[in-house]
Amino acid sequence: MNPFNKQQNNKGKKKNGGTKNPLWRNIFTSLAIFVVLIIVYSFIVGSSSTVKSIPLSQLATDITAGTVKSIAIKSDTLDIVYNNGDKREAKKEPDSSLTQSLVNYGVPKDKLAAVQVDVQSDSGFVFWVINLAPFIVPIIFIALFIWFLTRQVKGAGMQAFTFGQSKARITLPHDKKQQVTFKDVAGAKEAKEELSEIVDFLKNPKKFLDIGARIPKGILLMGAPGTGKTLLARAVAGEAGVSFFSISGSEFVEMFVGVGASRVRDLFKMAKAAAPAIIFVDEIDAVGRVRGTGVGGGNDEREQTLNQILVEMDGFEPNEKVIVMAATNRPDVLDPALLRPGRFDRRVTIDLPDRKDREAILEIHARKKPFAEDVNLAVVAERTPGFSGADLYSLMNEAAILAARENRLKLAQFDLVRSIEKVMMGPERKSHLLTKKEKELTAYHEAGHAIVASVLPYADPVHKISIISRGRAAGYTLHLPLEDRKMQSKKEFLDDISVSLAGYVTEKLILNNDVTTGPSNDLQVSTALARDMVTKYGMSDKLGALALEGSGGRAMFGRGVEDGEYSEKVSGEIDSEVSLIMKESYQKAEEIINKHRPLLDAIAKRLVEKETIERDEFELILVANGITPKKKLDIEHQG
Ligand code: ADP
Ligand code: MG
Ligand code: ZN
Repeated sequence: MNPFNKQQNNKGKKKNGGTKNPLWRNIFTSLAIFVVLIIVYSFIVGSSSTVKSIPLSQLATDITAGTVKSIAIKSDTLDIVYNNGDKREAKKEPDSSLTQSLVNYGVPKDKLAAVQVDVQSDSGFVFWVINLAPFIVPIIFIALFIWFLTRQVKGAGMQAFTFGQSKARITLPHDKKQQVTFKDVAGAKEAKEELSEIVDFLKNPKKFLDIGARIPKGILLMGAPGTGKTLLARAVAGEAGVSFFSISGSEFVEMFVGVGASRVRDLFKMAKAAAPAIIFVDEIDAVGRVRGTGVGGGNDEREQTLNQILVEMDGFEPNEKVIVMAATNRPDVLDPALLRPGRFDRRVTIDLPDRKDREAILEIHARKKPFAEDVNLAVVAERTPGFSGADLYSLMNEAAILAARENRLKLAQFDLVRSIEKVMMGPERKSHLLTKKEKELTAYHEAGHAIVASVLPYADPVHKISIISRGRAAGYTLHLPLEDRKMQSKKEFLDDISVSLAGYVTEKLILNNDVTTGPSNDLQVSTALARDMVTKYGMSDKLGALALEGSGGRAMFGRGVEDGEYSEKVSGEIDSEVSLIMKESYQKAEEIINKHRPLLDAIAKRLVEKETIERDEFELILVANGITPKKKLDIEHQG
């Protein structure tokens, strides 16, 4: 949308008023015009026929009687005025003159001479209107209709005719409805602090410029998907009260070749005109990938767009009060030219929220929702490690949908807890029926995971076991860490691998060395983890402190390690180290399962009966079998 459209849009909004659907509104307007035209038309036509008609013979009689004062001839129509002021109308014979006709009717010549006869030109406007109206009115109607439709389509921002222009969405500083401020963003404390400097500059640029400070032109927001990058960028504009031009990287490279670069030019021009302003390029990795590597087929279009962004960023002066923000969840693939000083040299990392932040985010999204008394957001926050802001938003939404579907007026804690699993693993698939044998095997498989997770000291405690299929999994064991962690140790990784392998171990035990396809995902996850331990984290004793594989993202500020930059000998060593880890983890799991066979049977039996075992019940079974459950967080007791 460009500034020229803006005015038109406002107009559109005002007119919109009651009727929501613009198409219906247009049809309605057109019909109204049509009705008005018909009324006008019938008025014009009708006005000429309010006068009474008389036959020509009557006229002849009246002239003979001497009562007629004057006759006006308009083509075939005669307007007759009597001496007493009465008016009448008559039709003349088409092809003969009036006097001739009247004489034929026997009107004496002297009487005829006493009547004043006017011949009026009949090519008058009214004549044409009357005669052409039946054809013209429908044409006008159709033309109006088409005009309204096209105008509407343009107003809605159809860009097909204007594809050079930027497709940025604009939020103006006074647009209170769309505006977001830091209050709407929970957590992300460091990011907010970092960005408040930018807000300060946009609000009061003079202070900075007077002292000769160079204000950053570009700020890159980095973070996992859903951590609130887009939200934060909007919030900066909202806090500073400046215009916000937002466009997504993928929109540059859309539909028509050669459009990206001109869109960039357009966007920067618009933003400068509206300064102070923020230009926000969302998902910049779509255009900002390393150039010329052939990744994505060496897309010329993309490179031109990227070049144009760089040119524009170099081109504007620090006093132009336009700041470019960009967001990405793949900073590792960005072209180094973007990260050079003078471009996106400020980088703000947004982490996944920790427990406290999750609670704050939940509170923000709980604002307009009615809650039952039992709701405890702290417990929900505790159970959702690894959730992003977007996940928490959708959790709240799912819970509201659940409550509404069950015709309740308030959200209960129960709704929130169910939604956690739905967001994590997809909806339950109640229709996915397992045969009795499959059900039993799944129960054993999950019981295996749960037991190993409970016995190994560094594994996460079990929150729930279920054999109701969700997403692609037949069953699942929910184990969550006691606290959020940023770093993981080798011991934790090893225990995690054992827990993953426990399903496989158990199936083998139950099926007398046969194996199903069930544990294939477990195997993939655990093998990948073992490989990362060896090649990325230096956790193998034999290979030692070597990073042999790129680690995505982490290496962006210096040159990182490229994948596969090692000899064949090392490759062989990696494989044998990975195998060793897997083998040892397997043995550990096998030992535990064999040792706790009665417990395994007990849990599997219970699962087949109930399909789901919650943490409390699970721990009772553990205690009954002589295993001490891992300690709970205090917060769980409040809930
Ligand atoms: P990203 O751009 O990082 O992928 P978004 O900014 O689009 O994520 O976030 C998606 C949604 O998630 C937001 O609209 C908001 O509702 C919610 N959200 C994410 N992070 C937060 C947060 N820190 N506080 C409140 N809501 C958040
Ligand atoms: Mg986003
Ligand atoms: Zn499994």
